[in-house]
Amino acid sequence: MGNKREKSAKAFKKAQKVIPGGVNSPARAFSAVKMDPIFIEKGDGAYLYDIDGNKYLDCVNSWGPMILGYNPPQVINKLKKQLKNGTSFGAPTEIETEIAELIVDFYPAVDKVRMVNSGTEATMSAIRLARSYTGRDKIIKLEGCYHGHGDSLLVDAGSGVATLGIKGSPGVTKNTAEETIVVPYNDQEAVEKVFAKYASEIAGLILEPVTGNMGVIAPEAGYLEFLRKITRKNGALLIFDEVMTGFRLARGGAQEIYGIEPDLSTFGKIIGGGMPVGAYAGKEEIMNYIAPAGPVYQAGTLSGNPMAMQAGLATLKELKNKKIYSQLESKAEKLEKGFKRNIEKLDFPAYFNRVGSMFTLFFTEQKVKNYQDVKKCDQQLFAAYFKEMIEAGIYLPPSQFEANFISLALSDKDLDKTIEANYQVLKKLK
Ligand code: PLP
Repeated sequence: MGNKREKSAKAFKKAQKVIPGGVNSPARAFSAVKMDPIFIEKGDGAYLYDIDGNKYLDCVNSWGPMILGYNPPQVINKLKKQLKNGTSFGAPTEIETEIAELIVDFYPAVDKVRMVNSGTEATMSAIRLARSYTGRDKIIKLEGCYHGHGDSLLVDAGSGVATLGIKGSPGVTKNTAEETIVVPYNDQEAVEKVFAKYASEIAGLILEPVTGNMGVIAPEAGYLEFLRKITRKNGALLIFDEVMTGFRLARGGAQEIYGIEPDLSTFGKIIGGGMPVGAYAGKEEIMNYIAPAGPVYQAGTLSGNPMAMQAGLATLKELKNKKIYSQLESKAEKLEKGFKRNIEKLDFPAYFNRVGSMFTLFFTEQKVKNYQDVKKCDQQLFAAYFKEMIEAGIYLPPSQFEANFISLALSDKDLDKTIEANYQVLKKLK
């Protein structure tokens, strides 16, 4: 039998000659699972098709944005319409206001929104704003949380940084890294100690309120409330990075579920409906520090790009329908029950974590509550699981340090197929 992914293997070799590592984002390289990446031809509904003609049920959904599945007609029609009118003007359009209004509607902590082109830009800009607003320099970041590749936040980050097993990145200056204080997730005492030592120097604390970038981990009871209190008490801003969780866990993101109002929020992924986008947002008093309303400079040739805004707005309009989140929840619940049943039946050393339509199957028997716990997972077993799932036609994020996403396009039959594949693969690996 020939190689099922011969064309992908060839495409990867070709790409490696002209693109560093052959990919435009490290997480795509499949390095942790020691496989060649799969080159995609198209997506349709809940499925991805590679250039060799293989079909995969997709649990990655472009790392989160494709909550409606691939090519939802509402989004595609808007994009087609916009194509005829032009793809970029570098001047304001009414659609930018419309999407900002929608975000303001869904997020009580948000009065104003600034659109950028990626989640990285959103968090980078939010940090600059927090520093300017408070007149302080230091940032608290939580170990294993990933906020994009801005210098200040590339310290003990999750996602691709964790997958590669590196602490940060060469090229981030020592001075920059020193302004970022890293503490473990779900550890109140560690945060108290930092505030006790540096109180008047801390501009803000940034976190993924529910993590996805070290796999899915929920905040323990009272943790987010504690962070809200201690930041407020010390005059530091609380920044929720909802690039992944925004419009995903609920319309109003993690802040809606846990009932916490951060000072600043960052968004991306879903709000671009599959087009490149990011945003940072918050109360008027803080947001008015941004140029041209205020002194903090931040700009972008393609910011608020009309194609991205159309795709994002069409997606958010779909998500206005609250029923969508109960549909996602029942799909996710079915999958969780199925996976947990499999684990129990096979007495397999694995731990399943889920919040809403995000989940991770950790290859450990221990409860996973922070980055150190994830690091203890059996990475080799994960790699073997990943490969077998690919063979079974299920496309997963290629690292233990990532979240899986459920889209609305997944049918009951698709979920059954995923649960059965999970059973057969775990059985084989036992
Ligand atoms: N913040 C979080 C929570 C993310 O998950 C990501 C990306 O995965 C980012 C920020 C960076 O976003 P982008 O990749 O669009 O720069």
